[in-house]
Amino acid sequence: MMNKAWEILSRIFGYKSFRPLQEEVIKNVLDKKDTLVILPTGGGKSLCYQIPALVFDGLTIVVSPLIALMEDQVSQLNENGVSAVCLNSSLSSSEYEKNFSLISSGQVKILYMAPETLMTSRIDDLLSRIKLDCFAIDEAHCVSEWGHDFRPEYRQIREITEKFPDAVKIALTATATPEVQKEILSLFKISENNLFLGSFKRENLFLDIKEKTDPYSQLLEFVEKFSGKSGIIYCLTRKEVESVSDFLVSKGFSAKPYHAGLNDSERKKNQTLFIRDEVMIMAATIAFGMGIDKPDIRFVVHFDLPKNIESYYQQIGRAGRDGLKSNCLLLFGYSDIHKIKYFIDMKDEAFKRMENLKLKAMTDYACSEECLRCGLLKYFGEDSAEDNCGMCINCVSDSQPGEDVTTEAQKFLSCVKRTNEVFGTGYIIDVLRGSKSKKILSQNHDKLSTWGIGNDLSVEEWKYLASCFLLKGLMTRDMNHGSLKLTQDAWKVFKGELEVKVKGKKKISKERIKISDDNTDDVLFDILRKKRKELADEKGLPPYTVFSDKTLIEMGKTYPATGFERLEIHGVGQVKLERYGDIFHEIIKKYCIENKIFFVSFNNLIL
Ligand code: ADP
Ligand code: ZN
Repeated sequence: MMNKAWEILSRIFGYKSFRPLQEEVIKNVLDKKDTLVILPTGGGKSLCYQIPALVFDGLTIVVSPLIALMEDQVSQLNENGVSAVCLNSSLSSSEYEKNFSLISSGQVKILYMAPETLMTSRIDDLLSRIKLDCFAIDEAHCVSEWGHDFRPEYRQIREITEKFPDAVKIALTATATPEVQKEILSLFKISENNLFLGSFKRENLFLDIKEKTDPYSQLLEFVEKFSGKSGIIYCLTRKEVESVSDFLVSKGFSAKPYHAGLNDSERKKNQTLFIRDEVMIMAATIAFGMGIDKPDIRFVVHFDLPKNIESYYQQIGRAGRDGLKSNCLLLFGYSDIHKIKYFIDMKDEAFKRMENLKLKAMTDYACSEECLRCGLLKYFGEDSAEDNCGMCINCVSDSQPGEDVTTEAQKFLSCVKRTNEVFGTGYIIDVLRGSKSKKILSQNHDKLSTWGIGNDLSVEEWKYLASCFLLKGLMTRDMNHGSLKLTQDAWKVFKGELEVKVKGKKKISKERIKISDDNTDDVLFDILRKKRKELADEKGLPPYTVFSDKTLIEMGKTYPATGFERLEIHGVGQVKLERYGDIFHEIIKKYCIENKIFFVSFNNLIL
């Protein structure tokens, strides 16, 4: 049966090999063993049930919580020539009836639906008449009260599946916490031997964290490197979303806002524009992303600190699902911690404690000087013995990590102490830098021993250090007046028991970031992208359902003449070959002739 699976992988999906765990999972499902798959976003969970569905004679039902996701999956499958439909409340009654009769007559291989639909008596009746081989429960963490996305109706799926003992169950999620795992295993009676837990390493994501000094210019500098590429900017509040989106538009970028304050149709409209590559940047609150399967998101920026590592991981995970290099930038500042604490403080006690611990882990991570990838993996309980991942700022940064600033910390903290812990950062910096402002003179602070001892650093540099001292817990800032107070650790610094080290300011390189490598013909790549968009628009589909970036990059690299026919291009299965092969082939041929490129590909030589 695995031979058949390999054949489908290449003929239908146009892929050359399985991603980690896919093959093992597929084998398990084909053997009709109930299975739980935990793979990160972009890990390739869908194939784990789509391929068995095409091997089985009967129907596979995929239960999925989000209508937008179902529709996206169905169009991608249809583009590959797979007979898949969905049944949900957004269909018109004639569409619903049409799909229903296709299923009844056994013409559908994969059926997507929401759990509510699965419970209806009409479906019950339908299922009693046809052969059902597999239940796939996507986003299976929705069954868990521990999880972040509990949906009571998900728990009822079990009753339905129990009526069909011959249909194998496969549950899938990207949520890795042990509590959630246990709940899914026990609810669906899956044995631990059939749990497949993938690595949470996302090797194609470059992780960068920067102190938030001048967020708008930092943002601008970053997004300028990604002209014409899709990205998301996550902000904490709606107001900030609007202002980031306005700012980017004012600078000539194509951007739109997305948050819960917009009405449904506006949100939907902006999301569609983004998915169809008509708007490149989405400024959004965390409300955005759940229903998005766009594989070619090239960057994710956190304009504010995420409230915990789980959400950070989930959000950066939306970048680079296609496996191509993508960039993640987190801008963090001390004031963000206060904003998040404010939200946490509104919750009840038990919740508060846990959320505060999670926030602490997040800030520790953001300040860490170690490999950022290892830090994430460690948090999720995965060992990682890599010395230099080469894909995070701490591993590639040429500035010395951990510059010793103990002396500066002693100066700053003692100035806080001598001014009686009632002033804020700006005032302390003025004293350190020997200002003779009226306020300082009237307080006699020009007579202090710490007055003027900090002239060697600029205001900006002091501000940077001050926020590091806050983040490192050497002092705290009063929420209402902004006055600084020392902590126990500050005393250790005075006594020389605690060294203080901070990261040097990281340089941002100005070069335009390319997703392709140097062997790709970028001019051809852009021509192919335009064609892709044109074809997708004709059908009202997202461009990535026609061909992925990876496919186009491969075409731009190999100028394939025969690779097409032999299904050697990534992501080109038989149906796509028939639908689009000639169109793209012609473009490549014309381009090669015009540019005098010898386009007999390597494949031809072996023939
Ligand atoms: P997940 O559901 O785990 O987030 P998807 O199933 O959406 O991930 O897969 C992410 C991307 O990877 C999709 O664009 C998919 O087509 C691609 N993909 C999946 N499996 C393979 C494979 N074996 N080879 C190449 N690409 C793959
Ligand atoms: Zn690293």
